Amino acid sequence: SPLDKSSSILIVGGGTWGCSTALHLARRGYTKVTVLEAYPIPSPISAGNDVNKIVEQGAFSEGEDEAAVALALLHAANQAWTGDPVFRPYYHETGLIMAASSSQAIDEIEQREIRHLDPSSYERLQSAEDFRKTMPEGVLTGSFPGWKGYYKSTGAGWVHARKALVAAYTEAKRLGVTFITGSPDGAVESLLYSEGGDDVLGAKTADGKEHYADRTLLAAGASSPQFLDFENQLRATAWTLGHIAMTEDESRLYKNLPVLFNIESGFFMEPDEDKHELKICDEHPGYCNWLQQPGDKFPQSVPMAKHSIPMASEKRIRAFLSDIMPQLADRPLCFARLCWCVDTPNRAFLITYHPRYPSLVVATGDSGHGFMHIPTIGGFIADCLEKKLEPRFAHSWRWRPETATQFWGDDKLNRFGAGNKVLDLKETETEGWAEIGSSG
Ligand code: FAD
Repeated sequence: SPLDKSSSILIVGGGTWGCSTALHLARRGYTKVTVLEAYPIPSPISAGNDVNKIVEQGAFSEGEDEAAVALALLHAANQAWTGDPVFRPYYHETGLIMAASSSQAIDEIEQREIRHLDPSSYERLQSAEDFRKTMPEGVLTGSFPGWKGYYKSTGAGWVHARKALVAAYTEAKRLGVTFITGSPDGAVESLLYSEGGDDVLGAKTADGKEHYADRTLLAAGASSPQFLDFENQLRATAWTLGHIAMTEDESRLYKNLPVLFNIESGFFMEPDEDKHELKICDEHPGYCNWLQQPGDKFPQSVPMAKHSIPMASEKRIRAFLSDIMPQLADRPLCFARLCWCVDTPNRAFLITYHPRYPSLVVATGDSGHGFMHIPTIGGFIADCLEKKLEPRFAHSWRWRPETATQFWGDDKLNRFGAGNKVLDLKETETEGWAEIGSSG
């Protein structure tokens, strides 16, 4: 049956995209929206539960059509970060430095990012001195071996991710969305199917309750493949981050810094304002956790929550710091975690009605660049629910198992770092996990 404002809509997953969708549906006047989320929001396993995320300009998907959609989407996000009062407080337009060392990775930055920009909007960085000058004296003291880059001082920066996620949740709740959170009440165990198995009618939670709805939206991030056969279109992939404690003086010096991102080694943003911790991500094509189940055609990467990172990742974080801020390179990690996203074979999102279950919509396949869209993605997902998504978006985000007929788990998807290959969490069996002190 067609949707109207009193149709019931059940959202599985109250993470980045689930909360954004709840907010947009409530703003459109839907009165029966329910979100099932396994944890109190912000969920500790949400990829969006983080002190910061980059808001940038690049078009990550392959192919000109996909790139055009990605650019239109970026434009919408940039408008909303400065225009939507729910999100505006968390946007910091500090600028962004994109860097690399190999000519291949520099080419990637130019393809993905620079060619879409007005040449007067960025500056080329050619020497260590050029890089050091982008921040106050005493911050970047390293030798930047072989680094080349581009500095864009406006129209990009970072957002306080956790606060933006909580803001979307709070506003959606204020507008009447029902949130059922925590386990067992909000923890979804399975989707509910119609008697003939030809439709999805809702979801069942760990307390045994069956939640029925006119539409079910699966937005469980890296956990989505747990609930539905995605026909090899999704790969759960984890990134690794560590925090180090900064003194108050250091935090003051490190305020309002541009984001620094070397696509072959790592990135950082200024320390968070509440705990004075500096987050560093080491950049790589991602870690997978492969499991081969009997009956599965290909091995599946299965998310595994962990508040530590492989030792090898800690070493890369220290190597990154040695190159740029050697004064911090030996400081202990006070927090670290694996952060799970889910890739598609071309890094375009997967937001569509399911081809065989007419009441099921999937909104997943964030491909590691989904946070910056939190102000707007829920509007596109609501358009999809209402069957009025613009055709070129619908095409880019379609159900497309024909793109995943082979095993693509080892495809680095144009990412760099850590030897330029997809990493296997099983490697950590030999090298071990980083030791993490208590978070200040
Ligand atoms: P999530 O936010 O992970 O939401 C999924 C939700 O489903 C979670 O809340 C989870 O608790 C819930 N769930 C799981 N299982 C169940 C269940 N059984 N029942 C109910 N609920 C369940 N993006 C950017 O745009 N810019 C960046 O700079 C950036 N940096 C990143 C850095 C790192 C280290 C990582 C890991 C990601 C980064 N991303 C960035 C990507 C971004 O975080 C993700 O694309 C985005 O958060 C994905 O949103 P989602 O809603 O699909 O998933």
